[in-house]
Amino acid sequence: MESFEGMLRANVELLTYVIFFGLLAGLGAMEAIWAMKAEGAQRRRRWTANFSLTAANIVVMGAIPVTALVAADLARANSLGVFNLVEMPFVVVLVGGFLARSLVSWAIHFGFHNIAVLWRVHRVHHTDTHLDVSTTVRFHPMEFLVSAPLVVATVMLFGIPPVVVMMFELFDAAIAVFSHANVRLPVKLDRFMSLIVVTPNLHRIHHSPVVRETNSNYGATLVVWDQLFGTLRQKPPAELARQPLGLSEVPEPSAHSLWFMLTLPFRPYKLSPAGDRKNTHDKSQQPEAIKP
Ligand SMILES: [Zn+2]
Repeated sequence: MESFEGMLRANVELLTYVIFFGLLAGLGAMEAIWAMKAEGAQRRRRWTANFSLTAANIVVMGAIPVTALVAADLARANSLGVFNLVEMPFVVVLVGGFLARSLVSWAIHFGFHNIAVLWRVHRVHHTDTHLDVSTTVRFHPMEFLVSAPLVVATVMLFGIPPVVVMMFELFDAAIAVFSHANVRLPVKLDRFMSLIVVTPNLHRIHHSPVVRETNSNYGATLVVWDQLFGTLRQKPPAELARQPLGLSEVPEPSAHSLWFMLTLPFRPYKLSPAGDRKNTHDKSQQPEAIKP
């Protein structure tokens, strides 16, 4: 196990990039052949905006001093957390570590949708008016400032071993790109995979402009937490292909303006046209007209 951990540690950064950009290229190519929805892709404008945000995110992530792996090393060195205090077979630690790590991601995502101040930040991800591999990297940099400390705390609380942390990070990177891909999977394959992991069909529902659909399917990797907490939602593929995407209160071209995306957390909770999106958190505010 130590030699596997050593190999993973020496190559984890490279492996993450290979998996992430490999899938980005591979699934990106598949989108041209088996697209769930071809119209409205606006690749030039959207990809410029989405990948510009990625550049900002890489800078912010590099500035965060404690990563999940550093936390796992600290926990092991100081015998902190459940898995460091109680001896267990590796398979139990592996499954337990994946469950704990995916639970905190689910909870963070739930918080981003259901706490007003966090929704202002996370809605940047939901303003994309089309869904494809580039949406994977469309996050406001402030998201990482919220999620990183919570992930670090979870790794330390459970004492998730470094090798499991690295395996989860690679799995997470792969499923993140896969679940945003605009690909039509064979129905049986999708049905089988969606028993365990988040598929493009499940995640597409999460990008619907209808609030009760946006506020469902919070899982980023495993579906177990949505199953357990009753937030899992499914739709027939034909209906999914017709489903609009994005937020009704953020039409194009604002949705693809980098300045608009970066400043969106500081704009009012209610935006105009706010039509069908009901504000449940911040009733005092009046809608503000959108200025890209
Ligand atoms: Zn979301």
